Amino acid sequence: MDTKDINLSTELKKYFGFSKFKGQQEQIITELLDGKDIFVLMPTGGGKSLCYQLPALISEGTAIVVSPLIALMKNQVDAVNGLSSDEGVAHVLNSSLNKTQTKQVMDDITAGKTKLLYVAPESLIKEEYVDFLKNVKISFVAIDEAHCISEWGHDFRPEYRNLKGIIDKIADVPVIALTATATPKVQDDIQKTLGMNNALVYKESFNRANLFYEIRPKVNVDKEIVRFINQHKGKSGIVYCLSRRKVEEFAQLLQVNGVNALPYHAGLDQKTRVLHQDKFLMEEADVIVATIAFGMGIDKPDVRFVIHYDIPKSLESYYQETGRAGRDGGEGYCLAFYDPKDIEKLEKFLAQKPVSEREIGLQLLNEVVGYAETSMSRRQYLLYYFGEIFDPVKGEGALMCDNSQNPPTLKDATKDLKKVLEMIKVLGEKFKTKDLISLITGKESAVTKSYKLEQTEYFGFGKSESDNYWKSIIRQATVQDYLKKDIETYGVLKVSEKGQEVINGKSKNIFHIAEDREYNLAQSKTKADNEQVQIQAGGGLDQVLFGQLKELRKNVAKKHGIPPYT
Ligand code: ADP
Ligand code: MG
Repeated sequence: MDTKDINLSTELKKYFGFSKFKGQQEQIITELLDGKDIFVLMPTGGGKSLCYQLPALISEGTAIVVSPLIALMKNQVDAVNGLSSDEGVAHVLNSSLNKTQTKQVMDDITAGKTKLLYVAPESLIKEEYVDFLKNVKISFVAIDEAHCISEWGHDFRPEYRNLKGIIDKIADVPVIALTATATPKVQDDIQKTLGMNNALVYKESFNRANLFYEIRPKVNVDKEIVRFINQHKGKSGIVYCLSRRKVEEFAQLLQVNGVNALPYHAGLDQKTRVLHQDKFLMEEADVIVATIAFGMGIDKPDVRFVIHYDIPKSLESYYQETGRAGRDGGEGYCLAFYDPKDIEKLEKFLAQKPVSEREIGLQLLNEVVGYAETSMSRRQYLLYYFGEIFDPVKGEGALMCDNSQNPPTLKDATKDLKKVLEMIKVLGEKFKTKDLISLITGKESAVTKSYKLEQTEYFGFGKSESDNYWKSIIRQATVQDYLKKDIETYGVLKVSEKGQEVINGKSKNIFHIAEDREYNLAQSKTKADNEQVQIQAGGGLDQVLFGQLKELRKNVAKKHGIPPYT
């Protein structure tokens, strides 16, 4: 198509009512119309949809949009159809349609009415669709949420793997892949899998300067969150928990404590999920307590806080989930609760997975630990993860995290590290963290006895410091690659090459421990304690979960060691 005849700004105004392009939208659209393959890495809310919607609307033929979620597609289709005065220029082809509806969609495509065709990858694979699409005019293919291709992304979908072959069968047209995931690993995966090594890459900064990041030790977490939410009364927020059960329990607990909260997870029936989501969007509920099932494609601009009750399994998920705060550019507080025990649980869970999944999972977890325990600017750490260098002093949003506002006290623990590494090596690299801690602090255990560790010079050498101190040394040493955790043997620690250099005295690195961050804080009183925040145990009246109320009350009461709420 000859793009010179088109004034993109006019078209933008005409279809979307916007007077200006956001970020690099205009260049992206121009290049796409010019027939180039394009790869767009832009944070959530950056305006990726428009990069394919506008060119689709003004191109001849139908653009195929691959998107992972039927619910997402429906929202987009409704939005696009609301834009244009023409009847229905966007359609969906997926398993939710019956025969008649499918035929109608196909007829519309053949008649040239359909400008955007949203398909799920599992539908696109179907032979009848491929055969049909081969014979109609396709303008280009857009692959939204392209990180679903990669096992290193936060939402891997095996069906995305085969897209390249199918697209090749359908048409020889430009491909635009879009994602809000920008770790170098995922980017590389996407480009390779889609054969887009020569694509033009458009990457925008992932810095969300209006978000404040804080990590707190997971102590008194129920009270801490109630306290936080009460300080933000009436504001919209999301609380993420890892398990469905926790979601139920905590939503209950918030309700009993006067917070207008609703649960959301994939175990709730569709009707309830939609109801709760809508209530949140319509501001009838202030807080959604949810598993990761909640959020993708939800565009509520004024979410003021995102709380992680449990630390997520990857920094990517953390970034995506916290990214749902402050989309309007206003305040967005991201508070996560961290307990190394949670990490151990996740590691155990991963130990049962097939090798590749396990390895990936462990590396992702390691990054989470590094982030949670870091004493550097959180924003700097996060952006580094996305391949961006951030100036923690002058960068936009530089002071917007706990570490930057209140720098931790660093202690040089190089000597202690060296001692631990030496000990592990001398003892033959066969112990796990737990046993090493007993050994260092001089507490007998089954393991110390059976290996006669009491008789070694190491028994009790670190008695003067707390268990937490030594745990932190070992964790940090693992994160910083002085130690390797052997997961095949459920966490036996071995000295890495980098660790060996420390033992040999060849390393020039100084090994720092953030005293008041990594181990002391967890033992001190929390803010909620200091203010003597009182909360009710969960189990309050919840219209939606009425049937399960009694049982929930019992469980929650049991969990908190108090009589059931009646
Ligand atoms: P992404 O897919 O990157 O997360 P979306 O495509 O959903 O982002 O767009 C986010 C928001 O930005 C939407 O509300 C959209 O209408 C808005 N938007 C996109 N482009 C523009 C623009 N040029 N001017 C103003 N608003 C825009
Ligand atoms: Mg999008």
